[in-house]
Amino acid sequence: MPTRRGFIKCMLGLGTALLPWYSWPNSLKPLQAASTFIDTSNSQKKTVNNVAQTDMSYLNRTAMEDILSLTHPELQGRRGGTVGEEKAAAYLVAQMKGLGLEPLGDLAGKQTRDYLNVFTVYPVVEEFYNGRLTFRAGKPDDLRTPSANVIGGLMAADSQESVILSAHYDHLGIFNGNLYPGANDNASGVGCILDVMRRLIKEKTKPKRNVVLAFWSAEEMGFVGSYSFIQKPTFSLQGIHAVFNVDTVGNGPLEEFALWANSDNRALQAIQAAAESKANAQLTPNNGYNSDQVYFNLDHVPAVTLMARDWLVKNHTPEDVPDLINPQKIALAGDILYDAVQKLIV
Ligand SMILES: [Zn+2]
Repeated sequence: MPTRRGFIKCMLGLGTALLPWYSWPNSLKPLQAASTFIDTSNSQKKTVNNVAQTDMSYLNRTAMEDILSLTHPELQGRRGGTVGEEKAAAYLVAQMKGLGLEPLGDLAGKQTRDYLNVFTVYPVVEEFYNGRLTFRAGKPDDLRTPSANVIGGLMAADSQESVILSAHYDHLGIFNGNLYPGANDNASGVGCILDVMRRLIKEKTKPKRNVVLAFWSAEEMGFVGSYSFIQKPTFSLQGIHAVFNVDTVGNGPLEEFALWANSDNRALQAIQAAAESKANAQLTPNNGYNSDQVYFNLDHVPAVTLMARDWLVKNHTPEDVPDLINPQKIALAGDILYDAVQKLIV
């Protein structure tokens, strides 16, 4: 019965198109519950025009607290399209609200805007490569599941231009009964850029360009979150002055970093200049490897990824745990990023 099968497929297709818009708002309850159990703060938040004012308990958090929260077993390794990812997203939304950032996850023009930037992911097939768990794409006609980037900004008084600090927050989930906590890959990058934003806010920075925090999801499935944002940006892609992406930044010798970019662009130059007196940050030959800088680079947006030089150690194994991370190294990476951002926003 090809017609009936066609009808069912068509309805399933329609369902998947609607899924992100219905599933996410309906799952707000578990999201809020998740943020309550992870977040120890019980202070009251005041809201002005739907944007929370800065809350000191959020301002005083540390990157290691973020890393411990995101690697909590309740978050089940934060695989894109799973409840563990939803809980991680809820944690990040809570941080953005607590810091009083402007929600930038959806298009302007609505009465209230959202930090969540929703897209869908296909199922993946797990594979081991040199002892490391990786994903390859599943069947493209399988049912998609919702996933989301989390995006918010410290806004300039009058500018359409932005400097993006980004890090993917998803990881590999649970496979064969093993939890992949992804402390270095990439809770470390998330904590690091939250630290930079907390510092900018503590210093009452009035940026001349918007400073945007973007937490991408489904990076491990092939940069799906950042690619989705580039396909449907929620603010001007032409206005993006630089993207500083941070991935797997917390391990190995303190002052040794690697940079990945496909051209000698403004973001790369800014981070090389900022790192010069602080650390050894070498551009990896042949553009390095791919992280969430890659589709920005292909779209000629100046973008660079900052990594720990020894990022591959325990990468994509269940041993990627918080003990692998040197808090001093996160602080040094944060210093470099802070200086690079400062050059572009004052
Ligand atoms: Zn990874």
